[in-house]
Amino acid sequence: MKFPTLGEIATKNVVSINIRKSIAEAVGLMFENDHRNVVVVDGSSFRILIASDILKARSQNINLSDQLNILNLEIIPTMTKGNNVLQTLEHLSCNIEYICVIDDDDGSLYGLVTHTDIISNIDPETLMESFCLHDFLKLSKRDKWIKKEMKTSHILNEMAQNSLDSVIIIEDFKPLGIFTTKDVIRVIKNSSDLELPVSSYMSSPVDTIFRGSSIKEAVAFLKNKHYKRAVVVDKDGNMHGVVSQKELISLAYSKWASLMKEHHEELDKINSKLLSRSKKYEIIASTDPLTGLYNRYKFSKLYELSYSTMMERSSAVSLLILDIDNFKKINDTHGHNTGDTVLVKLANLLQGSLRDMDIVCRWGGEEFVLLLLATNLKSSVLLAEKLRENIEKLEIDTVGKITASFGIAELIEGDDLKSTVGRADKALYLAKESGRNCVRTQNEIVN
Ligand code: GH3
Ligand code: MG
Ligand code: MG
Repeated sequence: MKFPTLGEIATKNVVSINIRKSIAEAVGLMFENDHRNVVVVDGSSFRILIASDILKARSQNINLSDQLNILNLEIIPTMTKGNNVLQTLEHLSCNIEYICVIDDDDGSLYGLVTHTDIISNIDPETLMESFCLHDFLKLSKRDKWIKKEMKTSHILNEMAQNSLDSVIIIEDFKPLGIFTTKDVIRVIKNSSDLELPVSSYMSSPVDTIFRGSSIKEAVAFLKNKHYKRAVVVDKDGNMHGVVSQKELISLAYSKWASLMKEHHEELDKINSKLLSRSKKYEIIASTDPLTGLYNRYKFSKLYELSYSTMMERSSAVSLLILDIDNFKKINDTHGHNTGDTVLVKLANLLQGSLRDMDIVCRWGGEEFVLLLLATNLKSSVLLAEKLRENIEKLEIDTVGKITASFGIAELIEGDDLKSTVGRADKALYLAKESGRNCVRTQNEIVN
């Protein structure tokens, strides 16, 4: 198999500037050429200036007429253009984004290669077809999502502080637009009014990709559109996350391993066995074996992530505990196996009734806990009522009808899983006290 060389895949229309020139001149070059970056030549080494460096300089009140050398720009690795993609991957760690390609003979700048260039030159066929975005897009991978009313100046600070190269602008959990480093360059160059909301400058609408898409489709999407990131949504069009170039790179590495298979058949067999075993263990460790729902351990991890998301985006999150009424009687009358069937039926009903972004877990015994994202107490009462009615309507072989009681708490600042569950549990107790088959909330608890 022949891999392309860096010389063949490098972007050649690179803009470069001497380190003695001013920051403002570099910004001007980036704007004129519509580039996200400029290579800064410092003797025989190369550094790179990207939009986030300009934002940082601004936030540190550095004068844009100062020389580029005061910015302490990162030196980027160089490789000669004769190296192929495989040799490049062997030498570079995953968090290096740019590689300077230099001429084999005189060491002069030949072009730039990014990780995206490398990915698109590794044929992503089989491995990438078998994974969908949802398989690896974890809650923790969520990037910054910003409400459309937020001031542009605030967004610039956020981007500078967190080294973000794009933010997604949302409304009611739906992606409305995107604000990237290219927009940063534009607003700075045009001295735009930064007190205006970010929605004045964002690109809209934003292209999205369904979370059920395969990695292959996502790669093609990024490649065709020349995007660095893809905004991923669920079937209702709600934000699910952002797939960055780096995430796809990790999959590219896996693909690379399968390319190596031709040469290292045995090694690859061991690798894939280990991979599937660790995947299996991960599933076992996070799943309730009877119902297939998340278990308490996994739920506690998801709770922590949801809490952080809530704090970041000031969006409401509710926790709901559901307990089957008189379940002991079902076991006593029909036997434990029938009791198990009831639990499975209820678990299926719950899973089928919730949105993709909601989280449901078997808390223990005949108790289930639900975490409802972007849902306040009022809305979660409506949802609980609907669930309660649907449970009432359920017809279970030999058992007939069942009912359940609900306790609801809304997450507040400073909460942890124990305190939220504590409030929901008290509300549940109240529901049982009130005659069962009803919904009660933390607001009705009398201390
Ligand atoms: P209440 O309406 O007050 O909730 O009454 P209850 O009978 O549902 O509550 P209680 O907590 O007294 O009984 C729960 C029962 O659930 C007791 C336990 O034997 C049974 N149970 C716990 N785990 C399982 C399980 O995995 N399978 C089955 N079949 N039963 C279980
Ligand atoms: Mg119980
Ligand atoms: Mg019960």
